[in-house]
Amino acid sequence: MTEIERLEHFKNQIFENKILQDAICEECDFYFEKENVLEEKINCLLKDRKCNYKIYPFGCDSRNGIFILVNDEYVAYIAGERNAQLCGIISKNVREFFNLLLTCKSLIHYFARQDLDNKNNFEESYEDWNFFSSGTSSQDKAIEDFIEENNFETDVGKLYEMLVSSVTMKPEFIIEDTIYNIKINDVFRSDHKYIAKLIKGNSNSMKINKKSDNNIIKLLPRFKYHPNLSKDDVVIFQEEICQCCGKEVEAYIENIYSRSDVDCICLECVANGDAAKKFNAEFIQDAEEVTDPKKKDELFHRTPGYISWQGEYWLACCDDYCEYLGRVGIEELDELGITDEVLKNYVCENKNRNLLEDIKECLEKEGSMTGYLFKCSHCGKYRLWIDQA
Ligand SMILES: [Zn+2]
Ligand SMILES: [Zn+2]
Repeated sequence: MTEIERLEHFKNQIFENKILQDAICEECDFYFEKENVLEEKINCLLKDRKCNYKIYPFGCDSRNGIFILVNDEYVAYIAGERNAQLCGIISKNVREFFNLLLTCKSLIHYFARQDLDNKNNFEESYEDWNFFSSGTSSQDKAIEDFIEENNFETDVGKLYEMLVSSVTMKPEFIIEDTIYNIKINDVFRSDHKYIAKLIKGNSNSMKINKKSDNNIIKLLPRFKYHPNLSKDDVVIFQEEICQCCGKEVEAYIENIYSRSDVDCICLECVANGDAAKKFNAEFIQDAEEVTDPKKKDELFHRTPGYISWQGEYWLACCDDYCEYLGRVGIEELDELGITDEVLKNYVCENKNRNLLEDIKECLEKEGSMTGYLFKCSHCGKYRLWIDQA
């Protein structure tokens, strides 16, 4: 039986039973959609994107995501919102797909919560989610019967392994965005990278402990030019080995400008300048002019950069670098009551960059035109830098 035939087989089985069909829709967030609707949806999602696979879309979820059979082999998912940049393999074959779907109840839920990073988290989440998404007793019964009839796996530990081995399957399912020239399985891919390490047998020493972020933050060094560092997403809170000091650390940065291949430096090694020396590296792409070479050294070699579209451009004032306060849009500037002031200055200083009307309309903290807010620690003036995707 080919996978497409197997798919038809499950589909017929489900269509025979209206209660089961509703249960799968309501409890597992999956429904079969008409072929022409699917066609339209997938064309819309793949517009300006390159997808070198034989794909067969067969179902949707409530987030407008699409489930597709790829190369008559495995099942992948493409998120419905284009800017979500999410796609990836979710099961090795059609049978496992229905097994996982009916037992786990909505697979995407676990990805969104990054539950796959840790078996215990997954098991906890599995219990909660199953409890939370239960339906009427006849719906629950229909799902149970279906699981039994098909002899599906129900052991939570085994389901976890099934899911992890699907997500980490090689080669990855990748769609390329031909406009921005990026690969759009970013979210799944970061999971891949992390989970691949788990599978290599480090599973016990590699736990993400989200709850203790606050305790980790308290222990991080302070940075003169980057005082809000802990709130900035340039810091990654995960256990990793720092490539400079070799210690196992709970927070690090991966934004480093160096010819060496480094992507994990702890904040201590940034603060004391060791990483910059060892890898002949800088953490900041570019900055305005400041005369004191010591200040320059502190910014470029001992200060973590920030996440931006085009790389950091650190602003200065009173012959010193400003403090970087974070990413902002009009909303955040309005909250601080400084919108008119900083925008006027920005437009005056950068005559050819952006028009005031465009900025007012498009500047968003998480948008494709982003503001980076700085404040002078001498005269207190706010300054803004803007870049675009
Ligand atoms: Zn280190
Ligand atoms: Zn100043």
